[in-house]
Amino acid sequence: MWHTDTVGDKAADATRGPATGLGGTALVVDGVTVQFSGVTALDNVSFEVRPGHIHAVIGPNGAGKSTLFNVLSAVYRPVSGSVRFHGTELTRLRPHRLAALGVARTFQNIALLPGASVTENLLLGRHELLRPGALRSKGRRPSSRAWAAAHRERVREIARFVGLGDLHDAPAGELSYGDQKRVEIARALCMEPRLLLLDEPAAGMNAHETADMARLIRDIRDSLDIPILLVEHDMGLVMGIADRVTVLDFGKRIADGTPREVQQDPEVLRAYLGSGDDTAAHSSPAGSPGPHHPAPSPEN
Ligand code: ADP
Ligand code: MG
Repeated sequence: MWHTDTVGDKAADATRGPATGLGGTALVVDGVTVQFSGVTALDNVSFEVRPGHIHAVIGPNGAGKSTLFNVLSAVYRPVSGSVRFHGTELTRLRPHRLAALGVARTFQNIALLPGASVTENLLLGRHELLRPGALRSKGRRPSSRAWAAAHRERVREIARFVGLGDLHDAPAGELSYGDQKRVEIARALCMEPRLLLLDEPAAGMNAHETADMARLIRDIRDSLDIPILLVEHDMGLVMGIADRVTVLDFGKRIADGTPREVQQDPEVLRAYLGSGDDTAAHSSPAGSPGPHHPAPSPEN
């Protein structure tokens, strides 16, 4: 169903050099500390994401998940520590440079052009691949109609892959919530990423939509064989699909392992059972709510 020998991959190859430092790790988060006027949002956090893994970062409200996501997408700069993607330091890059490296992200709150069609929204995701400079450097002619048509075909292929069927011409703003989330993910895939960052992909979804989303995330891993890092509240989603889970609490890493390992970790149970956050409490590893977590914080 997913063709890899298409224009997209060639375009991706044309804009990026070969991966360096491959081996056993795709992404290395090493001793990252982030402070906001006296608050230590992330405290010396380290973990590694392996190629082809779904890696989840979970934790109660205020744990530092959104802050971490913003560090990985080069929105926040840590006071210390480093993040290396196939050997390239990400923390000193501008956000737009990430796209050129093959790091794609989605947003927790849907950020589509509501009046534009699905195809038009997805073509925006190919902006980096369509940059004239990037193509010219390989001697391609950016104005070529065949080239543009091939991009359009690739976009349609990706739309079908994420389950948007033939909604290519529908205005994005008129789609259901679940379908708009699919467009968000499709737009990220249109960058032909080598790393996909998903910010709470199941936020605001009902159980049925969440199950669909879990299936899609697994399909992406299996078909594209790229690492996916997701920050997520929904423990059910995470435990069902993640290859590895890092747990944060009060900015510190308190556990890191397989879903089974972290579910049984006493520190994790304590953090979640001690949480008054509804989402965390509902989906706590032990499935039971507890007293109030002392550090609630606004989402994002
Ligand atoms: P999570 O996403 O896990 O709920 P956050 O990363 O949003 O946690 O927040 C971690 C901590 O950092 C919280 O104590 C929060 O209040 C604080 N924080 C996050 N962003 C900011 C900011 N822009 N300014 C000040 N404090 C922040
Ligand atoms: Mg958050």
